[in-house]
Amino acid sequence: MIIRKTPEQVDQMAAAGDILVRTMTMLKSKARPGITTLELDEAAEKFIRSQGATPSFKGYRGFPGSICASPNSMVVHGIPGSYECKRGDVLSIDIGVTKDGWVADAAVTVPIGPISTEAKQLLGVTRNALFDGARQMVAGNHLGDVSNAIQRSVESNGLSVIRTLVGHGIGREMHEEPQVPNFGEAGRGPELEIGTVLAIEPMVNAGGPLVRMGDDGWSVFSEDGSLAAHFEFTVAVTPDGPRILTPWHEAE
Ligand code: MG
Repeated sequence: MIIRKTPEQVDQMAAAGDILVRTMTMLKSKARPGITTLELDEAAEKFIRSQGATPSFKGYRGFPGSICASPNSMVVHGIPGSYECKRGDVLSIDIGVTKDGWVADAAVTVPIGPISTEAKQLLGVTRNALFDGARQMVAGNHLGDVSNAIQRSVESNGLSVIRTLVGHGIGREMHEEPQVPNFGEAGRGPELEIGTVLAIEPMVNAGGPLVRMGDDGWSVFSEDGSLAAHFEFTVAVTPDGPRILTPWHEAE
């Protein structure tokens, strides 16, 4: 069952999203060669708590970090630690913020200094796919319209979406129904109604679409070791169309 949110509840999720965006902006400015992912994590946790909110990921099924920090061929769910960012890396930063019982979730992949042409293309395609998916969050559309828009956007650029990792409904819980695959048929699946809120999150490998689990039981890597990217928004269906509740792009 998809739990729809009232306009007031959507506003509360946007308040969590506002803290998330400010956290993300701060981390993007710190993401330079030499910083460790643990330092980014600590800065995020400190800021989120200073805003009267909590990092949603911390303790989730035992996850130790406040953010996920996933460099290079790591796609998602990286545990922050001693990894030191270096020039030419791409680093995926995923943040969850809970404020007054409502959750917002968003991610970006950032370049660490100058990056390769291939990496730039990967980031650009994945970011565009997110916007193409979010644009489909219109009442009367179907979930498959979101999924299909992402898939077409990625595949038309010769890259592959990862099929075993999906987006999700979000609200009082970080993970609610439905699952939001990054591939599918337009017009299929549940209808998107006003008050539907989804975390839309294309995850894309520069190489093949397969992934493997890391030894820590959390991190997920591209199977072939190719670079990976992850961009995510929390988006609500409103009478005025899609409303991005985590507008990190507006701070760019
Ligand atoms: Mg998510």
